[in-house]
Amino acid sequence: MASTPVIKLGGRTFHIIDTPRDKDTTEQDVGMIDYDREYIYINPEMQSNSSWFITLLHELLHYVFYACARNDLRNDEALVSAMSESLYQIIKENPEYFQHREEYTDD
Ligand SMILES: [Zn+2]
Repeated sequence: MASTPVIKLGGRTFHIIDTPRDKDTTEQDVGMIDYDREYIYINPEMQSNSSWFITLLHELLHYVFYACARNDLRNDEALVSAMSESLYQIIKENPEYFQHREEYTDD
């Protein structure tokens, strides 16, 4: 797994894994997160980059609510979807705030 892309959140390092459509997933067949193994599975058949990033944010938000023990919010798909869409729009429409992210790393 050393060559897979990763994303860090809250002291965890999630591996992002392209995963084809799976009938067992519940995330409208586009993404899934495994908190314990720290894997985020994203369907590579996504139509656009924006859909890919929104799915990534969506799965990370599930983890955020899981990490703060708010399962009521973690299981609220409408809330998680609205937040992931909105966060993506904020980042996309204000790239100057996010493009120098390396300046803000703590290591
Ligand atoms: Zn979801």
